[in-house]
Amino acid sequence: MSGSAAAPTPGPPAPGSPVDLHLHSTASDGVLAPAQLVALAAACGVRLCALTDHDTVDGLEAAAAAARAHGVTLVPGTELSAHWRGRTIHVVGLGIDPAASALTAALALRAAARAVRAERIRDRLDRGGAPGSAAYARLAASGVRIPTRTHFARALVELGAAPDAGRAFERWLGRGKPANVAAEWPDVTEAVATIAAAGGHAVLAHPLRYALSAGARRQLANEFRAAGGTGIEVAIGGASPQQLETATGLALRAGLEGSVGSDCHDPALPWHRPGRLAKLSAAVVPVWHRWGSGPGFHAAQA
Ligand code: AMP
Ligand code: MN
Ligand code: MN
Ligand code: MN
Repeated sequence: MSGSAAAPTPGPPAPGSPVDLHLHSTASDGVLAPAQLVALAAACGVRLCALTDHDTVDGLEAAAAAARAHGVTLVPGTELSAHWRGRTIHVVGLGIDPAASALTAALALRAAARAVRAERIRDRLDRGGAPGSAAYARLAASGVRIPTRTHFARALVELGAAPDAGRAFERWLGRGKPANVAAEWPDVTEAVATIAAAGGHAVLAHPLRYALSAGARRQLANEFRAAGGTGIEVAIGGASPQQLETATGLALRAGLEGSVGSDCHDPALPWHRPGRLAKLSAAVVPVWHRWGSGPGFHAAQA
């Protein structure tokens, strides 16, 4: 599903932070190969980045090699799918040991859950009048190891069933739509424990993107902290000043450190270019404030 990812073109200098701790490659649902993504991040002025593919660490080795070549510090990461009160929540793990047995087991469980879910998405699409089987066949033929809804959306576009991926989500794959199949993700506290067992820092990803009331969101942040979580994403790609303020308040109230990440999947989407992020408020402790010597950081130092 990677398509023809062209060599990254140097973008404009990053107006904000030289840090970007949330990036996706072809190891999950990004469009650039890990090495291309790191090259793009470097070209965008990013000095410290993390590859955080959904439920996998497959891209980390190639990304680390590219980071050394480009003089960028790469933090090994992942983005674990989890559940909280029946909703899907994403937990970014930063500074993980990719070979830690607890993490390997957690990823295997999620890969199995995704394989089962992909079949159900296929069937739901077929029943809904979309070419689910043809989309599924494309995923299988291209050797996708972590099948996500994004892969289905892109396949539906390639098959002419939707004009773009956004429209495929609106019609079939998004929240409340017929092929948005729930998966059996582990509980968020378990995901935090997995990241900690792998020597990493757990960060609550894009807290404003979940369909939660303000009160429930604060409870989630508090529970995340109580479970051993370290941080929360405060500056994310495309966020408005109001969203930045809300996320800042959430971090401060829950006593969580702040992270910044574009969640870049496709550099063609301008908001999500690596490093294009607002700066953290001085009141928020950056999640990377005491990094540099801990496990996971040495291997990728430039
Ligand atoms: P999954 O983990 O398989 O449920 O897929 C989730 C991924 O789908 C997210 O990480 C996004 O990359 C993508 N996604 C979710 N909702 C949308 C949307 N409305 N439009 C475009 N992409 C989306
Ligand atoms: Mn994604
Ligand atoms: Mn996410
Ligand atoms: Mn992400």
